[in-house]
Amino acid sequence: MMRRIALVLAALALLSAGSTTAAGQRHLSDPDAVTTGSTSSATGSSYTFETLLQGRPVRWDPCTAIHWRYRTTGQVVGGFTQVVKAIARISKATGTTWVYDGAVSTAPTSGWLPKTSATRQPVLIGWTTAAHSDLLRGQSPGVLGVTRTAWFGVTRSGTTTAAIRDAVIALNQAAHLPLSGAVSWYTVILHELSHAMGLGHASSAKQLMYPVIQPGLRDLQAGDLAGLSRVGRGEGCIQL
Ligand SMILES: [Zn+2]
Repeated sequence: MMRRIALVLAALALLSAGSTTAAGQRHLSDPDAVTTGSTSSATGSSYTFETLLQGRPVRWDPCTAIHWRYRTTGQVVGGFTQVVKAIARISKATGTTWVYDGAVSTAPTSGWLPKTSATRQPVLIGWTTAAHSDLLRGQSPGVLGVTRTAWFGVTRSGTTTAAIRDAVIALNQAAHLPLSGAVSWYTVILHELSHAMGLGHASSAKQLMYPVIQPGLRDLQAGDLAGLSRVGRGEGCIQL
């Protein structure tokens, strides 16, 4: 929780430093991870946002299609089907449209994310290793996936408009999980895609957004869905 407060303050400080340019400033989320383990908390928040700006969650413009690409190199056999299934689930939960732009061999790293808001770059999802991605480097061996997002904010006359413009998702090739069911690649991808949409970790272990993946959870839970709706189409369009 302390880390999250620090993050929000850092973001606000950067913005108050004052960008009034149309290009806006780039902000990267901390790499976030879902891990295996036995930590469990039955109570706590049902959802949180990765970044709050002037009291509102930073999210995508839900009225613009989100393009994505998939890394075939190093993929888990059958993994693509699970990614497609998870994207359909997130699309339904948020009312966003996702468009597949094809396969790539590029490893999912922070370098994939655009430096300016003028650059359009699809979301990249793929399996990789700590040797090939800064997202997995230095993480504990139990880490299954890490997501980093880039959002841009523009301040005009004291009002800040911000939107997430890209995300990169690194799935840990060294982990061995079933494709679907509880504690599976499907649930890990759902968790990471929810980060990509702007959700942070829930402190309730009953949610899929709990930082340690819990046995028995096969899908997004009520709190996850409530959080996703707050970053979805129902909240209106964003014009950056
Ligand atoms: Zn996470």
